[in-house]
Amino acid sequence: MRPFVYDQSAIRVIFGVGVIDRLAEEVQRLPAKRVLVLTTPGQNRLATDAAGRLGALTAGVYAKAVMHVPIEVARAARDEAKRLEADCCVAVGGGSTIGLAKAIALERGLPIVAVPTTYSGSEMTPIYGVTEKGLKRTGRDSKVLPRTVIYDPGLTVSLPPRMAGPSGMNALAHCVEALYAEDANPIVTLMAAEGIRVLARSLPAVVREPANVDCRAEALYGAWLAGAVLGTTRMSIHHKLCHTLGGTFNLPHAQVHSVILPHAVAFNREAAGDAMRIAAQALGVGDAAQGAYDLAVRLGAPTALSDIGMPRDGLDRAAKLATEGSYPNPRPIEYAGVRQLLENAYHGMRPV
Ligand code: NAD
Repeated sequence: MRPFVYDQSAIRVIFGVGVIDRLAEEVQRLPAKRVLVLTTPGQNRLATDAAGRLGALTAGVYAKAVMHVPIEVARAARDEAKRLEADCCVAVGGGSTIGLAKAIALERGLPIVAVPTTYSGSEMTPIYGVTEKGLKRTGRDSKVLPRTVIYDPGLTVSLPPRMAGPSGMNALAHCVEALYAEDANPIVTLMAAEGIRVLARSLPAVVREPANVDCRAEALYGAWLAGAVLGTTRMSIHHKLCHTLGGTFNLPHAQVHSVILPHAVAFNREAAGDAMRIAAQALGVGDAAQGAYDLAVRLGAPTALSDIGMPRDGLDRAAKLATEGSYPNPRPIEYAGVRQLLENAYHGMRPV
């Protein structure tokens, strides 16, 4: 066994159907007294419900989170937190909402209570991202790590299959890349393999029976595992490409993950044999790249960049951006291979 470092940050996790009832108790436990509740415009009702549960602890509701945290949105939300003298952010929503809470925490140091309603995993990581002038800048800072995460599967029932499928593929991608991360370790491998198994089993059921809370709970458990391994390892080519495509071409985050994952896995197939065997076994298939592609098809999730708004003439620029700078990856990163990966992903080819 090779030497390793295991560095797990402390996050309090409350998991179960109905645990949203404990929101006020968890905020008081921090302790906090003036909460800014954040969400996206589409989830305003959920945020209002959270504000109602918090009662006198609510300082305000800010329902203006958008994907990839544009810098203007981050600045406006920071101003609002300052104006309201908020001492805590409750982020009720997906990665965009949690990302906005992180942008506030980065500057103002407010603790975050995250209530995830998608499978993005952002709630478990110290990773933040802000988009400025078409470039998404990401970084790590322990200040943005949520203090408490409330996972209530009941809140994910409203996530429609067309969003649940890609969001689940996003979680799957965290697990797969954790398996071949340069800083992987035996605990991460256990969690990532369990995450893949649970997601591969539950997601088709979620899409088939969206109102089934048991399937939703299983998928959310898989998403928690995925977020946990994302938070403790450095990701590789897949995540680099998804951030480039999302930030520069404003493509929808989860859908990009769904399209790219099979091709990123195929790209690394030879260089990360052990990880691929574990991933394939957890998926219950012979080949991890084809298994990821077939799962996306089963979920009705996108498989082609051409279907999610990627301009064909942007592929060269995307390959250039994704091959600039250095980051860990099992297979050396070079332009021609990455450009071919993007070409295959653009057309939605099943990996051979
Ligand atoms: P999202 O938060 O943008 O949500 C997508 C849409 O789904 C939104 O319109 C939202 O209102 C809606 N929605 C969310 N939950 C719902 C529910 N339960 N029912 C009905 N509608 C619901 O999408 P996302 O994929 O969760 O997050 C994407 C963002 O998160 C990206 O900006 C990405 O970069 C970031 N992210 C960050 C990390 C990290 O560690 N920092 C990890 C993963 C994703």
